[in-house]
Amino acid sequence: MNTLDKLTILADAAKFDASCASSGSNRKAKPGALGNAAASGICHSWSADGRCISLLKILLSNDCRLDCVYCMSRRSNHCARATFTPDEVADLTINFYRRNYIEGLFLSSAVYASPEQTMSDMVDVCHQLRTKYAFNGYIHLKVIPGAPQELVAKAGMLADRLSVNIELPSAASLKELAPQKSRQGILTPMRQIGEAASNYGAERKKSRRTPKFCPAGQSTQMIIGASAESDLHILTLSQSLYTKMQLRRVYYSAYIAVNSAPNLPMPSTAPPLVREHRLYQADWLIRFYQFQAEEILQATAPNLDERLDPKAAWALRHFDLFPLDINRASYEELLRVPGLGLTSARRIIATRRVAAIREEDLKKLGLVMKRARYFLSINGKKLVAAIPSHQDLLTAMCRLEKPAISHLSPQYRQLRLF
Ligand code: SF4
Repeated sequence: MNTLDKLTILADAAKFDASCASSGSNRKAKPGALGNAAASGICHSWSADGRCISLLKILLSNDCRLDCVYCMSRRSNHCARATFTPDEVADLTINFYRRNYIEGLFLSSAVYASPEQTMSDMVDVCHQLRTKYAFNGYIHLKVIPGAPQELVAKAGMLADRLSVNIELPSAASLKELAPQKSRQGILTPMRQIGEAASNYGAERKKSRRTPKFCPAGQSTQMIIGASAESDLHILTLSQSLYTKMQLRRVYYSAYIAVNSAPNLPMPSTAPPLVREHRLYQADWLIRFYQFQAEEILQATAPNLDERLDPKAAWALRHFDLFPLDINRASYEELLRVPGLGLTSARRIIATRRVAAIREEDLKKLGLVMKRARYFLSINGKKLVAAIPSHQDLLTAMCRLEKPAISHLSPQYRQLRLF
């Protein structure tokens, strides 16, 4: 099998990993036009400073020894198999990089040999890139659970970002759908990476000569909808991963039914993309808006309302706390107003230091009031004199959602991936 055949198989197999969104396109060369585009393996991701970068996103191998029920590459599936050598991946990356196709590499792998051997080959790719080719670009490397600590430590010195996939939201689901994996086997390298990153970070504060360990932090991916856990369970887990494991990002991946099994959703089930979208919004509230998972959801209603964004849903449930006076509310309170983001809240606080905000100032401040006007007052005067009933307000807020995800617009249906 030549390298292009392997690339076709292993780039396609990598598309199920959501921790780096794939957006390749196919365009044939045309006479008189410059260049062409191939979907194989090139995807876009975002660097720590917010830049969009192109990555070569591939698996080292899809020839897995394990048999996770939900996975396309599982041992019992009959699909085209391929395995790169470390030399091939390093060579491919450098050639793509020199041609300016990519700015970095996203490398994951099925467990085609022992976890130790698989991880060792992945580390070898990074080592070749950094030493033999002096490659200074971005590398995101998956860590194989069960790999020895020394290899994880070495990976952290070579890659910009590491990720260990938590796969499923509970140990029970993992046992049912991926019985050869264990929650402990996943959490151990995650903990090791978190601790090493903090230790190296602390040392670098004392001496700039201390090398960087995994400078873009670690992330993980969780499959949503393959098992029965509630959104509250998922968000509580993410919250604890952020605080206890120092994760930079949790990626939610709507389950795509590629296999059929009695303990999986029906193959005809559409991926729960709206749910995935709402989980990302709720996750954003936890990371940047000082919300706790148990504020966003409670045990009595443990799933996100798919009709509207989680902050609006929270505000409607706590409508007795509103309206907030724009000239008196604290920064933390402003962050809870639907429609006000971090920038708007900061701008309000900065402006108030100079002079009280008047109604005619709102536009000049660039505040988008479509949602916020129901939840704010200025010097005791409500921005909307007659607040609609709870049901009418819910309807109004749902209408403000993007049409493709609003259930109140029956002409729209959930988008399908394929
Ligand atoms: S270990 Fe990874 S590649 Fe192998 S079957 Fe499980 S999820 Fe798929």
